[in-house]
Amino acid sequence: MKIAIDGPAGSGKSSIAKEIANRLEILYIDTGAMYRAITLKLLRADESDYEKILSETKINFDGDKIFLDGRDVSKEIRENKISNKTSEFSKKKIIRDYLVKMQREIAKDRDVVMEGRDIGSVVLKDAEYKFFLTADVETRAMRRYKQLADDSLNFEDVLADLKVRDYNDSHRENSPLIKTDDAILIDSTDLNAEETIEKIISYIKR
Ligand code: C5P
Repeated sequence: MKIAIDGPAGSGKSSIAKEIANRLEILYIDTGAMYRAITLKLLRADESDYEKILSETKINFDGDKIFLDGRDVSKEIRENKISNKTSEFSKKKIIRDYLVKMQREIAKDRDVVMEGRDIGSVVLKDAEYKFFLTADVETRAMRRYKQLADDSLNFEDVLADLKVRDYNDSHRENSPLIKTDDAILIDSTDLNAEETIEKIISYIKR
């Protein structure tokens, strides 16, 4: 069984998708973490070297942790600097082609909950279940703000960053964030995490 969960930043996708995978006892893959790790790796590289660097790059998951060339980068990829850069890097076709291939490889012959922006539309087009998880932008920004616990950021900054990422992710040429016709829309603006999880699982068990 393959379950695709897509949606904008701050929609609660990661924690929801992880818990659903937990309850169904299947693999969970956070593709956003993969784009973040690649961004970290290529941050200072010259674009003409991307192909060579990507061919030598290794990304692995171990439980909640993500490893870039054997180094645990789980914390580093969550820094605000990387969050903002990732939506720039993830526009690039060479990066998307590389990660989509890797993601399909991971999901091959396995039950999986895969979460991202283009899972239902590109990576796992044939997934049995596709969900598009969203919430209004202020609600998403507030959730992010509470999560960040970074004194140097105020709510307005988080909201502005989120709007830029929303714009970039849904207007890029390669695999923009879209809700496919066959995806079930879940609006979590007025739902807490448990209610959102139960709603998604109710479709899967139907
Ligand atoms: O999900 P998360 O917010 O960690 O993703 C970080 C960024 O990675 C997104 O803003 C988006 O630009 C990119 N991304 C993507 N395609 C995916 C997952 C993430 O372009 N499948």
